[in-house]
Amino acid sequence: MSRGLVLIVEDERNIADLLKLYLSREGFGVVITGDGLDALEQVRRHRPAAIILDVGLPGIDGTEVCRRLRADDDWTPVLFCTARDDEIDRVIGLELGADDYITKPFSPREVVARLKAVLRRSQGVTTRDELTLGRVALDRDTRRCRVGDQDIALTATEFDLLAHLIAKPGRVFSREQLLSEVWGYSSVVTTRTVDVHIAQLRSKLGDPDVIRTVRGVGYSAEPEAAASSA
Ligand code: CA
Repeated sequence: MSRGLVLIVEDERNIADLLKLYLSREGFGVVITGDGLDALEQVRRHRPAAIILDVGLPGIDGTEVCRRLRADDDWTPVLFCTARDDEIDRVIGLELGADDYITKPFSPREVVARLKAVLRRSQGVTTRDELTLGRVALDRDTRRCRVGDQDIALTATEFDLLAHLIAKPGRVFSREQLLSEVWGYSSVVTTRTVDVHIAQLRSKLGDPDVIRTVRGVGYSAEPEAAASSA
């Protein structure tokens, strides 16, 4: 049984072929393209379950591919591959709605593990229930987020992070806890990943006080702040 189709956008053919080999073994279908503009076309044509997206590409680069998808309200999970530090900064700094990123050189096994984690998060849980905190409401069935009567578009990771915090209002989570409990893998991901996603969430929610920074510890969902913003 296929686990779904993955679009690999990578102009280095040997890397793309290696990833394809590993993904196929795991039961994924794979489509490869080495060009940014063609990637957009392939997404429209194949509706992949996830995209592995190289940053440095001919045509338009990976960040622009992701930006155009998100602008088009396409929230297909994206795992970015970056070759250099400045590319990482662009990926996380531009708030592109990346679900994760991995730096080259990487092991194909790690890419597959990360991809599975991204897919797990995007598929989420199937129980119908709503989490609320003040004006913020998360429907874990439809994976919709509302603030008041406004719909907020969150990436799969942002949704899960917020749901995790809101499920236990006032409880303080360390960055390491959030990485292991939300991201679901214990890899060499930096805790900066958590900070970046928290910043994105605050910006999208339009209310920085919903998530409290506990200095030297981590983050918590703040019941009183959320309620007082009503
Ligand atoms: Ca490249």
